[in-house]
This record gives sequence, C-alpha cells and structure tokens, in this order.
Amino acid sequence: MKLGVLALQGSYIDHLKYFSKLNEDTILVKEPEQLKDIDALIIPGGESTTMRRLIDKYKFMDELKSFCKQKPVFGTCAGMIILAKEVIDNPTHIGILDVRVRRNAFGRQVDSFEEDVEVTGVGPVEGVYIRAPYIEHVGNQVEVIGKHKEHVVAVKQGNILATSFHPELTDDYKIAEYFINMVDKHKEQA
Ligand code: GLN
Repeated sequence: MKLGVLALQGSYIDHLKYFSKLNEDTILVKEPEQLKDIDALIIPGGESTTMRRLIDKYKFMDELKSFCKQKPVFGTCAGMIILAKEVIDNPTHIGILDVRVRRNAFGRQVDSFEEDVEVTGVGPVEGVYIRAPYIEHVGNQVEVIGKHKEHVVAVKQGNILATSFHPELTDDYKIAEYFINMVDKHKEQA
C-alpha cells in the first residue's frame, strides 16, 4: 500500500519515518495531484492555522475534502483540528470528523506532557501531548477510543482516525499498525 503524509507544515518528517518503519512505500505529499496516487493520508501535528494557510495557498482543500470522503485518513494533533467539524473559537477546516475540538486545551502549565493512554483495539500507548487539543463533543458516528482523564483524545469515525497525542514521536508502533490495518481493510472492501 502507498501511504502519504501531508507535507505542508509540522512534524511530517517524523510521520514519514514512523510509518516508513512499517510501510516502506510512504511518501510526502506536497502537491494535490499526489493524492490520486495514495491509499491513505496522514495529516501531521504542527500548527493548524499555518497548515490551513498553506492548504489554501497550494489549493489543497477541495482535493482533501474528497479524499477524506473516500479513503482512510489519520490526523495527529493539529491534524485532528484540521479534520474536525467544529473548532472552538476558530474556523473549521476540512470539517469531516464529527467532533467539537478545543485547541491548546490542556492549558499552559501542562502545555506538553507524556502519559500512557489506553486505546480501544490497540492497548496502552505512550501519549505525547504538545500543546494538544482535546475533543469536547462527539457525534453519534464517532467512536471514542481513548481518553486522558475525562477528556477524549482518540477517536475513530469510519475511515478516519484522530489522536490528540503524537505516536510518531515514540518507538511504539501500535497506532501505526492499527491505522495500516484500517487501510488494509478498506482496500479489501474496495
Ligand atoms: N496547538 C496546535 C494547534 O492548535 C497543535 C499542536 C500540535 O500539533 N502539536 O494547531
């Protein structure tokens, strides 16, 4: 399978390395036309406002919206914000993931921290949070698969996976395996 990492801004190199460990054919996506060649897309962490500016600048939005309706997508941190239907006090971006998300939700004191998180169907994973968002509300098609205390930090909605934390900054490949499994299943059904 061919995976693509949206490479406009943020930690796309880390995602490339992370997924390449399990799937050699992982590429950086810098132009909308490349979306035609991949089976699934990863939207990395970074800064969602800047990422959005570049999505518009490089005319990615329409292609991204239609890609997300058809193929598996994994959003990490800023990627989760980019996918969300509602971003508190901010504009919506792709708007396909039926959640209400709060940016920088863990506050200043704990801007960045690590704590294990139990993810349904995956097991315990190292949660690395960097100025991370959390989800305040999910629609009924959305499965909550991970929480940090009472806050939702991992969800799945059909072909879409999103986490507040950064698996690509760890040596724990369970989340990558889980996503690759989603892509496999999607390919089998297609
Ligand atoms: N705080 C960033 C934002 O709002 C997300 C942080 C991250 O991706 N590590 O876009």
